[in-house]
Amino acid sequence: SDVRIEQINSNDEMSHLINEFNAMLDRIQRFIDQQTDFVGDVSHELRTPVAVLEGHLKLLNRWGKDDPEVLDESLAASLQETQRMKSLIQEMLDLTRADQVDTMYAGSVVEVQQLAHQVVSDMSMIHPDFNITLEDELDGPSWVKMYRNHLEQVMIILIDNAVKYSKDRKEIHVSLGNNEVEVSLAIQDFGEGISPENMSRVFGRFYRVDKARSREKGGNGLGLAIAKQLIDGYHGEISVDSSLGYGSIFRINLPRITAEKAQELMDGAEP
Ligand code: ADP
Repeated sequence: SDVRIEQINSNDEMSHLINEFNAMLDRIQRFIDQQTDFVGDVSHELRTPVAVLEGHLKLLNRWGKDDPEVLDESLAASLQETQRMKSLIQEMLDLTRADQVDTMYAGSVVEVQQLAHQVVSDMSMIHPDFNITLEDELDGPSWVKMYRNHLEQVMIILIDNAVKYSKDRKEIHVSLGNNEVEVSLAIQDFGEGISPENMSRVFGRFYRVDKARSREKGGNGLGLAIAKQLIDGYHGEISVDSSLGYGSIFRINLPRITAEKAQELMDGAEP
């Protein structure tokens, strides 16, 4: 862009500075482009629920006073659509905050073993028709630098997806493992799977393989984008392996810290 500084013949220090400056401009431009895209996507995504809401309000306005059936149905549908928008807005807020998490929650630590057992037991309660198993191969309590609710949120997103995109085999396998430097979590389902070309896209904002199906399941296409942004924010990795028609495995790796380090951070966080 216009403000970029042209390289001139000069000493190393000067040209180094110029490079740094130009690289910084590129980063700012990328950031602005991303924000512009995001606002465009958001407006687009809000259009559907608002149109649905408008349709029902028009129905109510025309027939609602005379027809109790229209009244009931349209009120219920409007309420459902409002709730959908509410969750969309909450998810968008989560997304905008998720890239600053490591500084915002700098002192936070969580023990993965306890949390995973908790989440699996909660999710089993919420989805009684699913058999959610936990294979725990951790060598003991395993700490990571992450705000507890964020790891919980990521696990819930992945397990909810495993439920939403399941087929006949209502089974979900959660597994935990670690080595010296990493803690890993995997969530496997036996559902519809994701084709190779879509595997790289599902972490994108608002991306859905099947828009209608996702919407019918209450999805906005933001769950995996939030999960990725959170895991990236805490310097971890998230990936997917899938086979169309057979199921998917989502894997997370997070840098491990020692129990002593975790204790130190907790002591520091709570004077
Ligand atoms: P959504 O709200 O649509 O579920 P996500 O960001 O969580 O949004 O997922 C994006 C898309 O990735 C989904 O619409 C679906 O097409 C696909 N997807 C996510 N998880 C799975 C899964 N476990 N099995 C098959 N497809 C999945």
